Amino acid sequence: MDKGLLYIVAMPIGNRGDISRRALEVLASVDRIAVEDTRHSGPLLRALGIETPMLAVHEHNEQKLLNKLIEQLQSGQSMALIPDAGTPLISDPGFPLVRACRQAGIRVVPIPGPSAVICALSAAGLPTDRFLFEGFPARTASARRQQFDCLKEQPMTLVFYESSHRIVESLKDMALIFGEDRPAVLARELTKMHETILAQTLGELCHTLESDADQRKGEFVVLVGGAKVDETRLDPESERILRLLLDELPLKQASALAAKITGRKKNELYRYALTLRQA
Ligand code: SAM
Repeated sequence: MDKGLLYIVAMPIGNRGDISRRALEVLASVDRIAVEDTRHSGPLLRALGIETPMLAVHEHNEQKLLNKLIEQLQSGQSMALIPDAGTPLISDPGFPLVRACRQAGIRVVPIPGPSAVICALSAAGLPTDRFLFEGFPARTASARRQQFDCLKEQPMTLVFYESSHRIVESLKDMALIFGEDRPAVLARELTKMHETILAQTLGELCHTLESDADQRKGEFVVLVGGAKVDETRLDPESERILRLLLDELPLKQASALAAKITGRKKNELYRYALTLRQA
């Protein structure tokens, strides 16, 4: 018997009109839909006219159910995996199931659609050629600050998910570590009635949320502009080597030797050595 297929189906992130025609066809045709929470997905699927049986698969039982799900797929039954909102596996369950299916030779078919990270990036007006998606920031202040500290030199746009419970604390920590003047965009309630996309500095965003309780409600994507790259600055290791050599040798020799050690251009190191000496 042919193996069944596992469909990874993206769902709306608010506006039900964003479900794709292909998603509806797949959801109506599979034997079972794996959902995170039947109380959430039941009414949505009924409203979309889908009557396929549901099975609750969430982060607490996913590992336990794995063998049973793989057996069902191997016996020829097909299944769709949907999250509460957006694309499965993007800050949502499903990774162990997809990995196990691929290891078992079961075909995994993505049915693309909305995801808050891409939706926010597409309208934020920050560079999108490279971005770093961090998911949810750590919950405790110390772990969160440490996480931001590791990201503060990144030149690409940073993207975070955040809930209404922690949005103010997270924005304050971002302002503290990335700097109050760093440009940022707060994308709130995307595709919903109260959709708001605010482009301000991190300091201004903290102030906006503190002074307006409505802006603290709902679901958020926080986008932070990347760190400015100082073209004239050397990477820390090359600078360390150059400084050590400058302590012992004349400028020209130190730059030439540093170029051999680091593989960087001699002229570039010479110019940098000059600024170090002047400083
Ligand atoms: N799988 C989803 C996706 O592809 O975007 C993300 C699920 S994650 C559990 C939920 C988080 O996504 C929310 O806390 C919020 O940060 C973000 N999010 C989801 N829907 C959103 C929306 N309509 N507007 C803004 N952020 C949203």
